[in-house]
Amino acid sequence: MIVKSAAQQSDVIVLGAGIVGVCVALHLQKRGKSVVLVDRKEPGEETSYGNAGLIECSSVMPYGAPRELGTLLRYGLNRSADVRFDWSYLPQIAPWLWRFWRESAPKRLKKAASDMWPLISRSVAEHEALASEAGATSELHRSGWIETFRKPGSLAKAKAAAGDLAPFGVRYEVLDADSLREREPHLSNEFVGGVHWLDPATVRDPGGLVKSYAKAFFQRGGTFHKADASNLVNDGIRWRLNLESQSLFAQEVVVALGPWADDVARRLGYRLPFVVKRGYHVHYSAKAGATLNHPVFDADGGYVLSPMRQGVRLATGIEFAPRDSRPNFSQLDFVEPLARRTFPLQGRIESEPWMGSRPCLPDMRPIIGNAPRHKGLWFAFGHNHHGLTLGPVTGRLLAEMMTGRVAFTDPRPYAMDRFS
Ligand SMILES: Cc1cc2nc3c(=O)[nH]c(=O)nc-3n(C[C@H](O)[C@H](O)[C@H](O)COP(=O)(O)OP(=O)(O)OC[C@H]3O[C@@H](n4cnc5c(N)ncnc54)[C@H](O)[C@@H]3O)c2cc1C
Repeated sequence: MIVKSAAQQSDVIVLGAGIVGVCVALHLQKRGKSVVLVDRKEPGEETSYGNAGLIECSSVMPYGAPRELGTLLRYGLNRSADVRFDWSYLPQIAPWLWRFWRESAPKRLKKAASDMWPLISRSVAEHEALASEAGATSELHRSGWIETFRKPGSLAKAKAAAGDLAPFGVRYEVLDADSLREREPHLSNEFVGGVHWLDPATVRDPGGLVKSYAKAFFQRGGTFHKADASNLVNDGIRWRLNLESQSLFAQEVVVALGPWADDVARRLGYRLPFVVKRGYHVHYSAKAGATLNHPVFDADGGYVLSPMRQGVRLATGIEFAPRDSRPNFSQLDFVEPLARRTFPLQGRIESEPWMGSRPCLPDMRPIIGNAPRHKGLWFAFGHNHHGLTLGPVTGRLLAEMMTGRVAFTDPRPYAMDRFS
């Protein structure tokens, strides 16, 4: 990657070069702003690297808290692969969990779905537009992903839930065991069927996609500093970011630091109900002759298998644990035998699995908009389970707001003042 020497003064400094920061930078640049991007790593090497690779326009209903007692108990007792609690963390996150549970009541969840739909429904089109500009169209696969079920009852429930999405025009096919095997010949015959979600795009190298978008930003004159973003100061007139050997100045700053965004927001005096849901992945080579054509979510097993550039990526569900505490690989270890039964996996490719954190707000909406108490400070974070999906559309919306254009959708559902 070409790293240009920093202009001291720019219109905007974007903090964070994950999918969200890079897309914000690109969209601002397209609207005539000079933009400097800052990250302590190269673009796309944190959460935006490690996800399951779904550009998930069929997830209309946000992932709310379960309401059934049995499921809650299973989760609470850590008897489920899809959720694990570090109980010592509970006192810290109890208020968040309570709020999340309240926001997951059916009526509120429906409202969250309709608030998120303007973003979700454009997600694939916005990726396609950026990918085309970046010469990265071949990185987006348009064959959807498959949710598989081991129990007839689970399949029936999923069928009904998919039917409820009819008003949104989401396309899917219900598969019986035979048609599932036609699409995925090497999948175990333990599955009774599945739902093939046809509209989502999938990516086999999510970090690589972010790098392609970042390259387009650099080719158009955008600059990048590999540096720490913590030393952000407002001198009353403009923003200053002190780097080791120089300072960057700008009238406006965007905080797009994903799971680390709250650190900077807190330092500036904003106390947000922000929690991370950690997740893990590890890659496997497939046994000779076995291929996985689509990402497959084993809904009864609680993990995803995605075909990736590195191999088959086994990605876990949610872990509630402090962002920076030591990894606990028990969810991976728990699902690995099941995953091996599901698909002919060979050995692990990495000696140490990857761990990352989904940045989450309890009402399941991101924050996209201005920080109410600072002129020129903007936030773009909290994209939950769908940051890869929502990066480009977030970039468009924020850039439209920052440049005084008519926003393509009403941004109020994502405003920060909903938490004040
Ligand atoms: C296991 C798992 C599976 C997932 N699957 C999917 C999926 O299939 N589809 C989907 O849409 N989403 C998925 N997600 C969620 C998605 O990956 C995230 O929502 C998204 O990547 C967040 O992007 P971001 O740009 O906000 O954060 P990040 O990609 O984490 O970017 C933040 C950047 O800030 C930088 N940074 C942090 N602190 C500093 C600092 N002090 N100074 C300088 N730089 C700093 C980091 O280096 C990083 O590059 C998944 C997440 C996990 C964990």
